[in-house]
Amino acid sequence: MSDTRRGLPLTNTRVEQIFPTLTPAQIRRIASHGHMRTMQRGEVLVEQGDKEVPFFVVVSGEVEIVRPSGAAETLITVHGPGQFSGEVNMLSGRRALFRMRAAKAGELIELDRQHMLALVQTDAELGEIMMRAFILRRVELVAAGVGDIVLIGSMHSASTLRIKEFLMRNGHPYSYVDLERDPDVQNLLDGFHTSASEIPVMICRGEIVLRNPTNQQVADCLGFNETVDQTQMRDLVIIGAGPSGLAAAVYGASEGLDVLVLETSSPGGQAGSSSRIENYLGFPTGISGQELAARAYNQAQKFGAQVLIAKGTRLACDRKPYVVEVENGARIQTRTIVIATGAEYRRPPLKDLPRFEGAGVYYGATFVEAQSCGGEELIVVGGGNSAGQAAVFLAETAKRVYMLVRSAGLAESMSRYLIRRIEETPTIVLLPHTEIVALEGSSHLESVRWRNNQTGQIEQHNIRHMFVMTGADPNTRWLDGCVALDVKGFIKAGPDLSPEDLSSARWPLVRPPYLLETSLPGVFAIGDVRGGSIKRVASAVGEGSIAISFVHQVLRE
Ligand SMILES: Cc1cc2nc3c(=O)[nH]c(=O)nc-3n(C[C@H](O)[C@H](O)[C@H](O)COP(=O)(O)OP(=O)(O)OC[C@H]3O[C@@H](n4cnc5c(N)ncnc54)[C@H](O)[C@@H]3O)c2cc1C
Repeated sequence: MSDTRRGLPLTNTRVEQIFPTLTPAQIRRIASHGHMRTMQRGEVLVEQGDKEVPFFVVVSGEVEIVRPSGAAETLITVHGPGQFSGEVNMLSGRRALFRMRAAKAGELIELDRQHMLALVQTDAELGEIMMRAFILRRVELVAAGVGDIVLIGSMHSASTLRIKEFLMRNGHPYSYVDLERDPDVQNLLDGFHTSASEIPVMICRGEIVLRNPTNQQVADCLGFNETVDQTQMRDLVIIGAGPSGLAAAVYGASEGLDVLVLETSSPGGQAGSSSRIENYLGFPTGISGQELAARAYNQAQKFGAQVLIAKGTRLACDRKPYVVEVENGARIQTRTIVIATGAEYRRPPLKDLPRFEGAGVYYGATFVEAQSCGGEELIVVGGGNSAGQAAVFLAETAKRVYMLVRSAGLAESMSRYLIRRIEETPTIVLLPHTEIVALEGSSHLESVRWRNNQTGQIEQHNIRHMFVMTGADPNTRWLDGCVALDVKGFIKAGPDLSPEDLSSARWPLVRPPYLLETSLPGVFAIGDVRGGSIKRVASAVGEGSIAISFVHQVLRE
């Protein structure tokens, strides 16, 4: 295939990995999983938004991938003989991002999604080639901002930031048009009969217009949950798709369990809001939490785990099989449960804090937030590792980073390597014994006041961005008494459950709870939500894998 026919926006680097050409032997192996078919020039094989998208290998002829926009089309790429279609939506079974059409008549091998998944899982060589190509294609699309939606928003709008974050953390490619920076934005809004006051506006597949949508509406429009059967009884429901939940999903699905994961917003959890994780085994140069989460998410889906973007709101735990109630009204029956709901950032008790959340006050420091405050002064509140990471990361683009800690310094709360980096970064100013006392501004944070608790002196600074990294509380309120909790609200499990806990929970079995098993048989707690756990990515991932071995035992009982 000639690269000159490859359109915008895919890069020419790593072409052989993004668009590999299979050998005749590899093509024969794929053919044994599917069937041959012909295509006529101009025939639309897949329309943008189609469900149940097949996987194609081109035997002869050419297939072009285009993004329709009104009557026009943007060429994404052309697949020639030996090349194959698809990107990560093939794994999840979500709707097609683009139109796929025969550019030259020829022959194709066609596989439905189930056969494609079976191939990826059983043929190591082809599985690696296909997974790598799917993932790299998605990475390219996200980087180039080319997808099936257009988001029109403003850098000063909290809802715009929320939707951008939701899309980014779900790895969904989109084009962004900024109200303040793009002169043609009014024409675009007029075309969809919307006004600037209604932003953020999301245009889904050129047809559906959503005005300031909730994350759930965005997920519904993109069909995130369409392929998940919410009536089926599951072997295992995992609640939470942070590192621990994703690890449990990978191990559970790869070991043959029928696994459903529920996630309120997007995979990755707290780790997904980390700019760079440097202490996770196997990544000597560090990895962003977002990238780690995306890899784990794809891995879980490769093995057939399904992910529902929806919140678990209640556990019906008075009889078996257990039922997990979901905010969309579904009631999911399951034989076992892994609770991996982690923890949620703490909000300092400041009167105006909610007003500025997403409009100057942030709880994560990824490149989305960094983009909105590059070149300016900003504040990081907190003295733990997450605050340290954020300060070092933001200092790469900010004019100055003020780091506010209530204690005398960082030594007690932060890893040594981060303290050294902070000391070596001249644009980070550490302010010990200091706390924020007031926030001011109209629609966006404009200034803050902080107080030195030793001198009592209050200073006012015109700073528009504040990152709050002051620890987290467990996400256990929704459990409503189903499992025993410790005094801080974390879940008690395994040997931490006292005889009193078990007797007040009416533990019904002769055996004691397994490691990580809660006071409810067959219900496990892993990661940050478990009392006494080590609050680290590696331990969360480790607990996810350990829990699955006990899930097998419970299913055999
Ligand atoms: C900014 C930051 C930087 C960090 N850096 C590091 C680091 O460098 N190294 C390190 O080892 N650790 C780091 N950590 C800690 C690490 O991220 C956590 O220990 C880890 O993410 C815990 O994983 P988890 O899966 O247990 O929980 P979480 O990551 O908290 O994930 C829980 C998930 O459950 C979902 N959820 C909650 N309630 C529900 C519900 N009712 N229904 C459905 N879903 C729900 C949440 O949306 C979330 O996605 C950092 C943490 C932060 C905040």
